[in-house]
Amino acid sequence: AALREGYERFDPRAYLRNNYLPPRADFSSEEFVVPWKLRCLAETFASGEIRGRTLIDVGSGPTIYQLLSACDHFEEIVATDYLAVNREELGRWARGEPGTFDWSPFIRHVCKIEGRGEPWQEKERRLRGRLRRILPIDVHRPDPLGTPLRPPADGLLSAFCLEAVSPDRAAFARALAHVGSLLRPGGHALLLGALGESFYLAGAARLPVVPLAEEDVRAALVGAGFVLRDFRSYAMPPALRTGVDDVDGVFFAHAQK
Ligand code: SAH
Repeated sequence: AALREGYERFDPRAYLRNNYLPPRADFSSEEFVVPWKLRCLAETFASGEIRGRTLIDVGSGPTIYQLLSACDHFEEIVATDYLAVNREELGRWARGEPGTFDWSPFIRHVCKIEGRGEPWQEKERRLRGRLRRILPIDVHRPDPLGTPLRPPADGLLSAFCLEAVSPDRAAFARALAHVGSLLRPGGHALLLGALGESFYLAGAARLPVVPLAEEDVRAALVGAGFVLRDFRSYAMPPALRTGVDDVDGVFFAHAQK
């Protein structure tokens, strides 16, 4: 209930400012956190092994950076979020309406690190075209979308959602199992998330987070029926500890169901 109340005050604009503008979104060096996240995804998708018809992104929030490498490998991207304000923000971006957040520095950077010489506008167009469904979701329900996804997704992505909506590690593990049910057996899951974080700010909202250790993430994945394929972590440098949260680091996990 406390979490639900917190999210009623979630301000997408403030969240974007806190996490997706400098100093965290600084593309001048790979030492900053946003380039680190984008590289994890770009390198993982570069293998060509993770692909299919549908990819579902759980708890997309108001952001699309997590879909930039993924969108080349799936025919359809399904974005999801609990909050209507976030789904609306994503819808405005997908339709190319004016006044939405400027993701172009992210798109340029991903095109650069993918190294195929693709003009960034082409990637933007491809993602907009493939982002056809933006659905409500609640990861605390065994059936997070309210109805089963048919056919199930070929790929699952979730960034900074499960730990940010779970009161404790057991709830995090259950939420992971719930969203895992949206994925077909053999499908790949990519998770990005916060390590050792107890809260973050989004305007007037102060959201509690379950502080995770690397081992908690590994154990929850195995418990939810996944085989771990890759695990990486990033230590938040002092210059990026700006007071918008108390995060210690970031994990990236690639697992297969
Ligand atoms: N994926 C984005 C946003 C993460 S913020 C990023 O990488 O930055 C956490 C998100 O979880 C918010 O958008 C919030 O609206 C969403 N959320 C809150 N409660 C949820 C719930 N019960 N189920 C799924 N998502 C939820």
